[in-house]
Amino acid sequence: MADEILAKIPDRRPAPRIPTAVSLKAALAMFWARLGSLNALETVSSARFWQKWLGRRLCSVDTIGRVHAQLHCEELRTGLHQVYERLKRNQALPLNLGRDVAVLDGHESHASYRRHCCGCLRRIVSTERGERVQFYHRNVTLMLLPGALPGRAPLRLLLDEEPQRPEEDEVATALRLLTRVLAAYPRAFDLVLADALYATAPFFNFLWDHGKHTLTVLKDERRNLYQDVQGLFPLVPPQKGRYRQRECLWWDLADLVSWPQVKTPLRVIRSLETCAVRSQLTKQWVQQTSDWIWVTTLPAAQLCTERAVGMGHQRWDIENHGFNELVNEWGADHVYKHEPSAIEAFLLVAFLAYNPFHAFLRLNLKPQIRRCRSVIFWARCLAAEIYLDAGRTRLRSPP
Ligand SMILES: [Zn+2]
Repeated sequence: MADEILAKIPDRRPAPRIPTAVSLKAALAMFWARLGSLNALETVSSARFWQKWLGRRLCSVDTIGRVHAQLHCEELRTGLHQVYERLKRNQALPLNLGRDVAVLDGHESHASYRRHCCGCLRRIVSTERGERVQFYHRNVTLMLLPGALPGRAPLRLLLDEEPQRPEEDEVATALRLLTRVLAAYPRAFDLVLADALYATAPFFNFLWDHGKHTLTVLKDERRNLYQDVQGLFPLVPPQKGRYRQRECLWWDLADLVSWPQVKTPLRVIRSLETCAVRSQLTKQWVQQTSDWIWVTTLPAAQLCTERAVGMGHQRWDIENHGFNELVNEWGADHVYKHEPSAIEAFLLVAFLAYNPFHAFLRLNLKPQIRRCRSVIFWARCLAAEIYLDAGRTRLRSPP
């Protein structure tokens, strides 16, 4: 499948001697094996693995960086869409609590006081040496959150990302991302989860106008809606519920109109959650309470309180299974080449590596092979093959 998708992705080099797909396949293997940098890739360039995987020797890592800076990112996005389509056709993306759900969030990939490019955002930071200009990149990423197939962990897909532009706020970036994603994936999701930053009228209205629902954290104390529900909670008896190991008290207030800038009445759900936690210091069990408030356009008839609370907590999936894994395991925040187009291309290629990797583990490996082996185990197997092979080749070659 990789060859079929990658063969259609061109770059802007006028007369390329090395096909674009060679650089792309090398970058995919770099991400799958979690090599972490182009320098690390260069150290294993002698491995025979490349002959098998690329059908030729590995090209120089300078070429790989140059090709990524000139890639057509829209074609990489088409590649992501083809992976989605294939999985959808194979019924690998079931409903999640009865709905098709996506989550989006912003992510800062790196920051520097020295290196910068024309795509860098900038901010003033107070340091011991006075105020300094810091340069950074941020993107908004959208992740699809399907339900789980029987006996398997849910398969989460990274659908797209959009770089935040200088002088732009994160919600504006998200709306640009959603405009593109809704055109390419009109029926992939009907509910978007997001954090409190997205509890804005433009965000809610945009999705409402496109026939989609929103569920975000509500914590802006200045907002009339927040003040209203704080006044209502003591007057409305809560219902008892349970979320995982936590005992909950739930309030579910519908048809709220105290946010007139949003085109539809809203529903607010609060979950006061208590669980017993063992203190590491004293070894005593203590009660820990957390208080969550979400606002949504979805009426109770379409999503009951229990499922709405479950959805609210799934907002963290993009942090836990998206950004944290991409950064800590995949090296997705590494600056492979500091140019805006290269940063965007390498991130999209990391997404192109992430989705089929997880699909393969969940759908193709038998449970007895998957059991007791973490996700990173399989990445290390590939890295071990490449490193061992490169080591043997070096030993055989004259110095
Ligand atoms: Zn930059």
